[in-house]
Amino acid sequence: MKGDVTYMSQIYGLLLQNRWRETPDRLPVRNPYNGQTLAEVCRASAGELDEAIAAAQQAFTAMRRMPAYERAGLLRRTAELIAARSEDFARTICLESGKPISASRAEVQRSINTFTLAAEEATRISGEVLPLDIAPASAGRIALIRRFPIGPVLAITPFNFPLNLVAHKIAPALAVGNPVVHKPSSSAPLTSLKLGEVLIEAGMPSGAVNILPCPAAVAEKAAQDERLSMVSFTGSPAVGWRLKSICGRKKITLELGGNAAAVIEPDADMGLAIERCVFGGYVYAGQVCIALQRIYIHETVYEQFARTFVDKVEKLTAGDPLAEETFVGPLITHEEVMRVHAWVEEARSLGGQVLTGGTYRDAIYMPTVLAKVPRQARCVCCEVFGPVTVLFSYQDFEQALEAVNDSVYGLQAGVFTRDIGKIMMAFNRLEVGGVMVNDVPTFRADNFPYGGVKDSGFGREGVSCAMEEMSEAKVLVVHDVP
Ligand code: NAP
Repeated sequence: MKGDVTYMSQIYGLLLQNRWRETPDRLPVRNPYNGQTLAEVCRASAGELDEAIAAAQQAFTAMRRMPAYERAGLLRRTAELIAARSEDFARTICLESGKPISASRAEVQRSINTFTLAAEEATRISGEVLPLDIAPASAGRIALIRRFPIGPVLAITPFNFPLNLVAHKIAPALAVGNPVVHKPSSSAPLTSLKLGEVLIEAGMPSGAVNILPCPAAVAEKAAQDERLSMVSFTGSPAVGWRLKSICGRKKITLELGGNAAAVIEPDADMGLAIERCVFGGYVYAGQVCIALQRIYIHETVYEQFARTFVDKVEKLTAGDPLAEETFVGPLITHEEVMRVHAWVEEARSLGGQVLTGGTYRDAIYMPTVLAKVPRQARCVCCEVFGPVTVLFSYQDFEQALEAVNDSVYGLQAGVFTRDIGKIMMAFNRLEVGGVMVNDVPTFRADNFPYGGVKDSGFGREGVSCAMEEMSEAKVLVVHDVP
C-alpha cells in the first residue's frame, strides 16, 4: 500500500491484470487550485487497452462462476479498506479535482456505502418462477428466470466524483460477476488508481478490474470493441451520445449533464428552501451534474427569497479546497473559468442582472446569482457547470412546471411546497428522472434509481438498478411437469 498523499509526487503505473505497469506516455496531474503538479500517471496506448480487454474477457470465465458470498466478501473488504484509508482518499480527491475537503470526505463516505450496498445486493439476486399455463399451447410447463452477468464492462468516468462515480460502475459490475476495463478522467485519475490498490488488497481476481488512464481517442476505440458487452459512461452529453452512436450492439448506460431547476411555492418553508438552494447551487462550485441552476420562485415570495438568498451566497467561503472552511473551490481548468465568465457576460449583454458575483480570482469563479435573464442565454438553456444560479419569478404553479420542462435536459428537479396536490402534479408532469420534494435536485442517495431523460441520459444507476443493467435475464422452461 502506498499510504499517504505524499506518495503523489511519484509516477503512477496503470493497472492491468493486478500488476502496475509503467508506460512511456506520461500525463501530469495538476492541482486545479494552484497548478502544482501532483504526480504523473502512465497512459495506456491502444495496445494496452487491447490487452486489458483480453484480460477482462479471460477473467469473465472465472468471475461468472464466482459464488455470491465471494463477490460480496470482495466488495465488503473493499469498503472496509476505503474506510481505513478514508483521509488519504479525501485528500487525493481534494487535491486532484479541487473539491473542498469537507465535500471530498462526504464523497468517500458515500463510496463506502456504495460498495457496502453492492456487497449486500450481491447476495440478494433473486429469480422468478412463472407458471406458463396461460394458453393450451404452453400448458404443462413452468419457467425459471434468473439474471446472469453480461460480460466485460467499459467504465468511463468524469472528473467531478472521482471515487463515488467509479464505485457506481465497479461495485455493481463485481456484484453481478462482470469484469471491468476502467478509463478514469484525465483530470482526476489518481483516486481511481488508489482504488485499484485497495481492490488488489481486497483480493480481487486478476483481470477483474483493469484501470487504464488513456487519451479519449483510445477509449473511444475501445467502446467499439466487440469483446466488451457494455459501456457504462458518466460525463458530458456530447461525448455520451457520440459513444452510443458508435458502440454497436453492446449495451450502454449514459449518465450525462443538465440544467436542473427548483420551484419555490409560497407555502414552502422559506428558511429550508433558501438553505438547500444555496447548497444545491454552489456545492463543489456547481460542478455537479444535478447542480441547481434555475430557480423558479412564486412572485409573492420572490423579493424575500432573492434578498436572503443573495445575502447567504455572498457569505460563502471561496478559496483553497484544502482549507476546512472552504465551500466553493476552483473550477477544474482555467478554460472553464473563462467559459463560465463568457456565459455570465452573455447573460448580462442580453439584459440579465448580476445580483452578486460575475467575477473570478485565479481559478475561483465567485458565486454568482443572475436575474431577468432571457431563456436563450446559455446560463439558462445550457449546462453551466459552475457556481451560477438564475432566478425567475412566476405567477402560476403549472406555468412553473412548464418552465422547468422547457429544457433539452431532464435529470432531476426540486419542488418546495407542502401541498400534496402540487407534489403529485409535479411528479406526474416533470420530465426528469427524479423529483425531490422540499429539496434541491442536487440530492442523491446511492440506492435509488438515478438517471435522466431527454439529453440527460439513458438507463439508470443506483446500485441495484446498475446491477440490473449489467445483467440479463435467462429463462429455463421445464416441460412435462407432473
Ligand atoms: P467529459 O469531458 O465528457 O469526460 C468524461 C469522461 O469521458 C472522461 O474520462 C473523458 O476522458 C472521457 N472522454 C472524453 N471524450 C471521449 C471520447 N470521445 N471517447 C471516450 N471517452 C471520452 O466530462 P467531464 O468534463 O469529465 O465531466 C463533466 C460532465 O459530466 C458534465 O456534463 C456533468 O454533468 C457530467 N456528469 C454527469 C453525472 C451523472 O451522473 N449524470 C455525474 C457527474 C458528471 P478525458 O478526461 O481523457 O477527456
